[in-house]
Amino acid sequence: MPNRYDIPKYAKACVLTEPGRFEIRDDVEVRLPGKHEVLCKIRAVAICGSDPEIFRGDLAGTWPPAYPFVAGHEWAGEIVAVGEGVTEFHVGDRVAGEAHKGCGYCDNCKKGRYTICLNYGKTETGHEHYGFIVNGAYGQYQTYSIRSITKIPDPVSFEEAAMCDTAGVALHGLELSGITPGGTVAIIGPGPIGLCAMRLAKAMGAARIIVIGRGSRLSSAQKLGADICVDFTKEDPVEAVRRITGGLGVDEAFECSGAKGTFNQAVRMVRKGGKVVLLGVATDDVVEELPFKYVTHNEIAIFGSRANPNVSWKVLNLMATGQLNVKDLITHKFPLENFADALDTFVNRKENAVKVVILPNGEI
Ligand SMILES: [Zn+2]
Ligand SMILES: [Zn+2]
Repeated sequence: MPNRYDIPKYAKACVLTEPGRFEIRDDVEVRLPGKHEVLCKIRAVAICGSDPEIFRGDLAGTWPPAYPFVAGHEWAGEIVAVGEGVTEFHVGDRVAGEAHKGCGYCDNCKKGRYTICLNYGKTETGHEHYGFIVNGAYGQYQTYSIRSITKIPDPVSFEEAAMCDTAGVALHGLELSGITPGGTVAIIGPGPIGLCAMRLAKAMGAARIIVIGRGSRLSSAQKLGADICVDFTKEDPVEAVRRITGGLGVDEAFECSGAKGTFNQAVRMVRKGGKVVLLGVATDDVVEELPFKYVTHNEIAIFGSRANPNVSWKVLNLMATGQLNVKDLITHKFPLENFADALDTFVNRKENAVKVVILPNGEI
């Protein structure tokens, strides 16, 4: 029986070979950690909404820059080897990952805003974007910078910790606007990020959450804790929010869908002095017309929110204390060998799939 920390020379990974094609290989070299890096055995990795376009090759040349490539960035696992200069982490530590590693020295990185690193994409500066620009977590092992990992508190499982990225994306957006204690929040788009935003807004003191969506995802939101659900196929969401809030509008609105028209709706459903946060990733062709004077005269603040800087420890602690439940957002689990089924389940929302998790080293 090999020790759980024995490091094989080669391991299994889901390898993208060209746009739209991938295969499960068992001959992918396991890279040993360099300075300030650790080698992790990946225990759980969740499929992200951004993964399907990487698999299709919609952004080939950028994400990924070249083939073969290993995607995946929402992972948790355990450290099996540490590189030179690593003092805070040890073999056996359970850690959760982040996709972004800033260069560390640009003006934005120095301010802690490393997901908008000024050296984005220039790996020679030390910038890395795991699963997008450099190889990621859809495999049994991967090396990571210690900047991109956070220790997992004991009560949190690997599967839950794989939700650290999604929950962190939501929390970063909520931190940008703040949440009004006792206030009302609107969430547009009850996907995994929207559902995490819904729960985190409650944890941060919001009194009422209105979720706007349709179909099975809206029913999920209802089951998972939304106070009021608005089906946009049946009712104009701006009118509905105005009606629910007695004409006032919500304190904060979080756009989590990236769909056309929803930015404008978010602006029109917040109260005077309200805040709009854009978390959904729209495609380049989504261009919105906004009411210029309305935004000015009502002092509506608009925030773009990218990824999850400096929040991993916060969401992991909220998971550990039960203030953020993510267990019921994980609807499906698959071994790495069944990656095609996993992707199909996620993309086509089969069996009301919300979050689909891959277990590259088998059941935990
Ligand atoms: Zn993600
Ligand atoms: Zn930087």
